Amino acid sequence: MRVCVIGGGASGMMCATMIARKGHFVELFEKNEKLGKKIYITGKGRCNVSNATTGDEFLKNVVNGKKFVMGAITRFDYNDTTQFFKEVGIPLKIERGNRIFPESDKSSDIIKGLEKAMNWAGVRIHLNCIVQKIIVSENIVKGILVNGKEIFYDAVVVATGGLSYPATGSTGDGYKFAKELGHSIIEPVPALCAIKIKNEEFANFDNLTLKNVKLFAKNTEKTIFESEIGELDVGNGLLSGPLALSCSSYINRQDFTNLKLYIDFKPALSYETLANRIDREIIEIKSGTISDFLETLLPKSLIKIFAKKLDINITDKANQLNKEKRKNLNFLLKNSEIIPKELENFNCAIITSGGMNLKEVNPKFMKSKLYSNLYFIGEVLDIDALTGGFNLQLAFATAVTCASDFKDYRN
Ligand SMILES: Cc1cc2nc3c(=O)[nH]c(=O)nc-3n(C[C@H](O)[C@H](O)[C@H](O)COP(=O)(O)OP(=O)(O)OC[C@H]3O[C@@H](n4cnc5c(N)ncnc54)[C@H](O)[C@@H]3O)c2cc1C
Repeated sequence: MRVCVIGGGASGMMCATMIARKGHFVELFEKNEKLGKKIYITGKGRCNVSNATTGDEFLKNVVNGKKFVMGAITRFDYNDTTQFFKEVGIPLKIERGNRIFPESDKSSDIIKGLEKAMNWAGVRIHLNCIVQKIIVSENIVKGILVNGKEIFYDAVVVATGGLSYPATGSTGDGYKFAKELGHSIIEPVPALCAIKIKNEEFANFDNLTLKNVKLFAKNTEKTIFESEIGELDVGNGLLSGPLALSCSSYINRQDFTNLKLYIDFKPALSYETLANRIDREIIEIKSGTISDFLETLLPKSLIKIFAKKLDINITDKANQLNKEKRKNLNFLLKNSEIIPKELENFNCAIITSGGMNLKEVNPKFMKSKLYSNLYFIGEVLDIDALTGGFNLQLAFATAVTCASDFKDYRN
């Protein structure tokens, strides 16, 4: 068969390789002057290429499309990704949180590995080629229009990514193709991004990394998100860092009017244990000031903010804090309120939530339910996961699942 893959990102390169390995004629079209521009910036240049978890553990990290990707992540998991890269001379390693990286710590090696695999399999790669349209006739996909020229194929795979970091080439072209063909798109919204906040106290506040805290999101008292204990950055009018990124993926379709976020600075302590700790610290600090006392509980730069909220004078003696103020402090440490303004935009969002409507794609082969020779893989689909290597693993798994629909001519 003659197969066309649109997009030279993680999913497109993997899919093109796997189909070509079965003896098909595969051409891949990439609009950029080089392959894998987005892969290059992943994992802060180190590429967190997968995560050493499977099944339910993996699915816990999938935000949208859990059921849809179940088959794909079983078919092709992190062991397969590791084997794939080993075969092309790129060994991988597992780090904290089961995160998998190339041993070299270079994302460019992941791109090289994928490119090598395509070359070995005989994929024809066309760079600087913007696919403009998918050509159909009588409900069958016939080919593509690329750089003003029509080329005909037996099957077309859309691997154009989402809308995030558009400078890497993902500008939502796949959504346009899908809509033109009568498919529907779930409105794309930014995910895994920083959260702009309204709190004035943090507007001109230098960035502070909070360790071992928890973040909650509530909309009119309904809990929308509750993080694990982890790291959060606050400052310059933003919440960022791992907990904020995860939170963004759960609040990105919420109405922000009544949405509130809360930081728990002492997640390991119950209210009661914290109350006892407050009393104990005050006794131990003897004639020390409230400022000295608060330093035992909080980063220095937050002391003035807390004092203002509690309406206390930090130069007063710590033992002057009455029962009510201690109770208010306890509550504030467990529930510091943050008012979100909006999410950062697609230019800064690691991933796009939304995209190709999963109801219109058969997850067995990532095949369109409207056209028997059209496929959608990777981030163009309405699937998204948390950080940790899950998104790239999803790109690979959906790619391999698509390739499994093609007959193997080698045997
Ligand atoms: C800053 C950042 C860091 C990240 N870090 C990680 C990480 O460490 N681990 C992880 O798992 N995930 C990470 N991700 C997410 C991950 O990179 C993506 O989920 C993944 O790359 C999606 O792969 P894809 O092939 O579906 O799409 P993309 O990688 O976006 O590839 C799509 C390709 O299609 C091309 N294209 C688009 N339209 C056309 C057209 N009309 N004609 C021709 N070509 C076209 C684009 O130029 C692009 O090369 C990160 C993302 C960002 C932005």
